[in-house]
Parts: sequence; structure tokens; C-alpha cells
Amino acid sequence: MPAPAVGIDLGTTNSVVAVSLAGRPQVLSDGNHGPLIPSVVSFLESGERLVGRTARVRRAIDPAHTVASVKRLLGRPFKSEEVRRAKSRVAFDLKEGPDSSVVVSTRGGDFSLPEISAMVLREVRRVAEQGLNQRIDRCVVTVPANFNELQRSSTKIAGRIAELEVIRILNEPTAAALAYGYGRGTREKICIYDFGGGTFDVTLLELAGNVFEVLATAGDTFLGGDDLDAALADWLVPHLLRTTKVDALQDRVAYDILRDAAESAKCALSTQEATTAEFVYQPRKNADPLRFLHRITRAELERLAAPFVSRTFDVCNEALKLAGLKANDLTAVILVGGSTRIPSVRQRVASFFGRDPLTNLPPEEVVAL
Ligand code: AMP
Repeated sequence: MPAPAVGIDLGTTNSVVAVSLAGRPQVLSDGNHGPLIPSVVSFLESGERLVGRTARVRRAIDPAHTVASVKRLLGRPFKSEEVRRAKSRVAFDLKEGPDSSVVVSTRGGDFSLPEISAMVLREVRRVAEQGLNQRIDRCVVTVPANFNELQRSSTKIAGRIAELEVIRILNEPTAAALAYGYGRGTREKICIYDFGGGTFDVTLLELAGNVFEVLATAGDTFLGGDDLDAALADWLVPHLLRTTKVDALQDRVAYDILRDAAESAKCALSTQEATTAEFVYQPRKNADPLRFLHRITRAELERLAAPFVSRTFDVCNEALKLAGLKANDLTAVILVGGSTRIPSVRQRVASFFGRDPLTNLPPEEVVAL
């Protein structure tokens, strides 16, 4: 039997791969690991390169040579506002390449963004081949609805470098709507609210038969779960200082570890009313590790997250205005992205659109599915 084509959500934070077997879409994973493949590449001193899960853990240890969240920069000129802002936020080095493109400079060498994306795609392919026990060479890759032609062709180039034939580039919101079974005849207008790790996007689609028309799309390339992690980490900084004398604002590694602790606590608070953030840090070689525990409630996280969640609705209002629609003209709201697991996000989406959003499918997997 010829190998099936797989669907790849090449995400800013994580990538996911799915396949349709006997008409049933399902996500793929290798072994006991979940389906999320971190879109992260880490270049070790030994010359070795890690991609995915093993690379992600190096973000806190070796941030200068661990490349993450570059999707938002794909196909953008080096002198653009996005690249300027990203440069001030990431610990790895971004340089100007040929034709004012962006190049990531690491101890493992200089790489174009399609080359970095190709490294992630190769890992995605490995996971898919392991899951299916079959060689894969064709795929559909999803991209944000607002990707321009250059960004779409950069994504195809990444596929080619990874020796994958990209048989189609599909808009992420269209993919999410298809996963929920839309596109089978009814004429309606729906909203896809996508709140991920690094970016927020909202897309209004008009469905007529199997035609999906983008009525409007709006987004903020610097708004996502990362902001909530940073807000929670910043809130923990004085508590950490008081208990351990470590000033995370003066110590990059300590801050990165604190941010990881904040992210774990944030995720736990989606299902629990309270949790304990745990920070373990060895300030110097051979020094005793420091341990700091701090209780956080869901209410506290909600308070810290509220301004960021409010910004998502400014973007929703912008999209509605562009399309000349009101929130209650829409007949469904689909949630995409890990940050939509946060209960207060769901509640506020429901109250903004005047209807409960669709949540049956896991929000991190829906685009790949
Ligand atoms: P995505 O881009 O869809 O992979 O989403 C990644 C973002 O979702 C990261 O900021 C994660 O911390 C966040 N996330 C994942 N799971 C949860 C959860 N259970 N509760 C809150 N945020 C989550």
C-alpha cells in the first residue's frame, strides 16, 4: 500500500502530525510521549543537534544555542518590526542574511529560517514514521491564514529541504474547521479563536458547501501563553528573592528556570484551583541546589492573565470590524491552541461571542487533525 500523506501543524511552539486511516483522523506520536513535538532545535557544544522534546529541555540550560519560536519570523525582512522585537526577546543570535533575510547564528553554524523549520519537519517525519511504522514522503502543511506568498513558499522550501513533498499548504483555521466536520454543505459564518504559546490569531470564515472563504483575519504575533508564563514568573521574582536571595532579574538562567516553573503551574491551574510552583536551581558548580516552593491559586493566575486575555478581544473586534460583522452573527466558535485550555479564557470567549465555544477536540491537536 502506498504511504499515506500526513497532516502537519508546523507550530510556533509545538508541531503535531496526524494521519487519516480508514477515514479516521488521528494524531501520531512515538512511544509513550504525547503528540506535541516542540518546534525547538538545540546545538550542543559537541556538535550534536537535538530537535523536539530533547531540545526543549535545553531552553533553560543553554538558551543562546537553543532556537525556538522562529515561525513568526519566517519570510520577514531582517529590518521588520517583528524581527526587531524578536531580537530583544530571544537569547539566540539573529543576523541579516542574503536578500535581507533572517539568519540564526549558533555554535553549530548559521541557518536560514526554512533550514531551521526543515530540522523540525525532519523530526516530525521521524515521529510519524515511527508511529506508522512506514516511510513518509508526502504531507499537507498548515500555515496561519495571514501568511503571505513568501511565507507560504518558505514553508514549502522547508518541506523540500526535509525531503518531504508538500502536496498542499492549508490555512490553519480552515484545517480546524474541517476537523470539526464543517464544509459539508451548510452556509454559515464561524470564528476560529487561536491562542497558542507565542501568537494569537482570530479568523472569520464563511462556509458555503466545501468552499471556505476567509472574511477577515487579525492577529498579534507577540501575544500568547509565553506572556502568561513571564507575568507569573515576574510575580514570583520577589518571593524567590525573599526566600532564597536569588535575584532572577539579574540571573538569566534562574529566570528561565522560574519561567518553566511558572508554565508548569499555569498548566496545572487549568484543572486545579491551586498548585505549588517548584523552582530548583544550582547557583554554582558543586553548590547545594536551592529549592523554592510557592503556592499559587487559579484566581491569582486569572488576575495576572486578564490584561493579556483582554488583548485577544481587541483583536477579535478588529476582525469583526474588517468583516463588517457582529459577534452574534457567528454560528460557532472553535478553540485552537494550548492557551484556550485556561478556564477563564473559555468563559470570556463564551461571554464575548454569546455562545459556548466548541471544545470537543484537543485544542493543540485540532489543526493537525
Ligand atoms: P500551542 O501553541 O497550541 O502548542 O500552545 C502552547 C501554549 O499552550 C503554551 O504557552 C502552553 O503553556 C499552553 N498550554 C498548554 N497546555 C495548557 C494548559 N493545560 N493550560 C494552560 N495553558 C496551556
